Amino acid sequence: MTAQLIDGKEIATKVYDEIKAEVAELKAKHGIVPGLATVLVGENPASQAYVSSKQKRCTEVGFHSIGEHLPADTPQAELEALVQRLNEDPSIHGILVQLPLPSHLDEERVLSLISLEKDVDGFHPINIGRLSMKGREPLFVPCTPAGCIELLDRSGIPIEGAEAVVLGRSNIVGLPVAMLLLHRNATVTICHSRTKDLPATCRGADILVAAVGRPEMVKADWVKPGAAVIDVGINRVDDPTRPRGYRLTGDVDFEAVKEVAGHITPVPGGVGLMTIAMLMQNTLNGAKRAAGLID
Ligand code: NDP
Repeated sequence: MTAQLIDGKEIATKVYDEIKAEVAELKAKHGIVPGLATVLVGENPASQAYVSSKQKRCTEVGFHSIGEHLPADTPQAELEALVQRLNEDPSIHGILVQLPLPSHLDEERVLSLISLEKDVDGFHPINIGRLSMKGREPLFVPCTPAGCIELLDRSGIPIEGAEAVVLGRSNIVGLPVAMLLLHRNATVTICHSRTKDLPATCRGADILVAAVGRPEMVKADWVKPGAAVIDVGINRVDDPTRPRGYRLTGDVDFEAVKEVAGHITPVPGGVGLMTIAMLMQNTLNGAKRAAGLID
């Protein structure tokens, strides 16, 4: 292997340790305990698992947490009333509505009701709008994209001036990652399903972020020697040799690409571990901002 492994577990552990230390200081000096509310509607098992790991992390880092679990047939008005109550609750600094919501609910309307100051998922249209404007700063940045940048920064990979290629333009990953890279003065190309020559475009990248949801799509000859490759993809592929009958793989052909890249994230063990770490960081920042300790 020539590439240096970007170890998401090691970096996320560092982030959690730093947050724990800051929470202890906030409590001791200012009597503040950061608070996160999670809102889950329905019984989607994956969403239940995500929410419970977020709450577990809250406990570990010393946050206060509230877990609201509503039935799948909850009317829009009831969900909106809950969000309003949490907006007004001074012990809560972050509100996370777990997506996707059941199809009868208007997701965009619910997300836009979350107070801008508590939008720790970073999906409020104003936060996304600020992220897309030069010279403006969102109060919160979406967690998975923020995790990608954190991995680059903590691995000492320069962003300013780099040629960055982002594969994927979704609202939750591709687009915000591209905007963050642009904010940091990379030259950014965004690719999607209509891009004509993906391999050639990718070969120009010093930083290649793959967020397409296609198992092992990025091949070794798509990658510039020495490039930093950040693999956001989490795909299940059948594998009868595994007890569960499947394994998880990224959007990058890891085994081949690691022989060409300079840095690479594994799947699992890379970006996936950073998402909740960034959620905790956002919640801590929300608490500090509410107390006037940061802008
Ligand atoms: P979406 O399906 O919303 O978006 C996929 C994007 O990839 C689209 O922009 C699509 O283009 C593009 N795309 C799809 N197929 C191709 C192709 N063959 N060639 C070029 N572009 C293509 O996915 P998400 O952004 O939500 O997620 C991407 C991956 O990241 C998934 O594997 C997901 O599981 C993972 N993920 C991981 C997270 C984590 O680590 N915590 C969090 C969120 C997601 P177009 O716009 O033209 O349709």
